[in-house]
Amino acid sequence: MDRVHSSFDLLSHNLPEGPVVMARPHCVAQAAQWFKTNFPGEVLYAVKANPAPWVLDALWANGVKGFDVASEAECELVATRFPEAQIAFMHPVKSRRAISRAYRDFGVKTFALDSEEELEKILQETGGAKDLTLVVRFAVSGDGSAYPLARKFGVTPDEAPALMRRARAVSEEMLGVSFHVGSQCMRPDAFRQAMEMTNRAIVKAGVLVDVVDVGGGFPAIYPGMTPPPMIDFVRTIATQFENMFVAQNAQLWAEPGRALVAEAGSVVTRVELRKGDALYLNDGAFGNLFDATHLNWAFPAQLLRKEPSRGKLMPFRLYGPTCDSMDAASAPLMLPCDVQEGDLIEIGQLGAYGAALATQFNGFQTGETVVALDSPGASMFAPAPAQRAAAQSARVRSIKRHIKRVTE
Ligand SMILES: *Cc1c(COP(=O)(O)O)cnc(C)c1O
Repeated sequence: MDRVHSSFDLLSHNLPEGPVVMARPHCVAQAAQWFKTNFPGEVLYAVKANPAPWVLDALWANGVKGFDVASEAECELVATRFPEAQIAFMHPVKSRRAISRAYRDFGVKTFALDSEEELEKILQETGGAKDLTLVVRFAVSGDGSAYPLARKFGVTPDEAPALMRRARAVSEEMLGVSFHVGSQCMRPDAFRQAMEMTNRAIVKAGVLVDVVDVGGGFPAIYPGMTPPPMIDFVRTIATQFENMFVAQNAQLWAEPGRALVAEAGSVVTRVELRKGDALYLNDGAFGNLFDATHLNWAFPAQLLRKEPSRGKLMPFRLYGPTCDSMDAASAPLMLPCDVQEGDLIEIGQLGAYGAALATQFNGFQTGETVVALDSPGASMFAPAPAQRAAAQSARVRSIKRHIKRVTE
């Protein structure tokens, strides 16, 4: 992969025809270290957010050794890259072959489920294995998350006790509970409520629990959507975990996806045509911008030019390159009013659910990946403002020294 100092360097490169995916492994490293330092339990990365090798390697190198996978291919990807990894198969509905291969070929012992039928499948496909960690997935409300996930999976608090007792009876190793508060959760209290609910179900079931898995949902920063500091989420979870007296000896797990990788990726796309306030781009809903076009929240954007534009910001409607009329953004993007054909626009916070969702529909390229060393945009993990200011002035000094060296 090519390396550049910042996305602006692309202006002096021969640009590829398609969009450019900017990869910032140092941002993954920063987020991983933050979680390893501050989360009082195991961190399992939800691979679906971004399965790119540069992401997996940056996580591994920075102490994230656990992975939450949802398919046979994700299992294989992680197991072959990191034979030592702790892999948890957290999809509550798996194919029989995926269960069997995960257990037999990739050494996966942890499986999620939300029904008796799935429990039977797991037992049959692992030959009645005794060394499983069975994790019962709860449905939780999703209130307070920008992207609720409550409807598709999970047992209700009424159904849970019977399933937990059945799973406890067959899992000699470990029994766990899990939930997902919804992606981009804005309220730490959502975790507290979900943990309280699972606690009540554990009491009702009268079983011992070895794992409390609080799932994903940890937020990233988007324009107009600044979450509370990440430490508030972690403190709320830690406090509530201590209050779960039924899980005194249990392990605490989390499965962040978005929070670990969102900041680490952006996409540079070219304007192919401007028609009034409409921009036709070389990337869109079927490429790296599925989330950026379909979610009804804003994404950060900047115009990349050697000379910064003095144009006032105005809202633009965005269209992707394919012929499908769904290839359009639901929320406008704010850009300087003088944007024109041939301009490059960088859209940020796309390390999660960006490239991971890209297709080649209609023959458009998903884009080359380039590593960038800059850290654009707001961060949930950046050092405190004072440290940031110091780092900034150190950077300015080093640039000045560099310029002096070059001009001398
Ligand atoms: C998608 C998913 C995650 C990650 O969710 P984020 O909102 O990206 O943190 C974690 N666990 C499960 C089971 C998931 O399906």
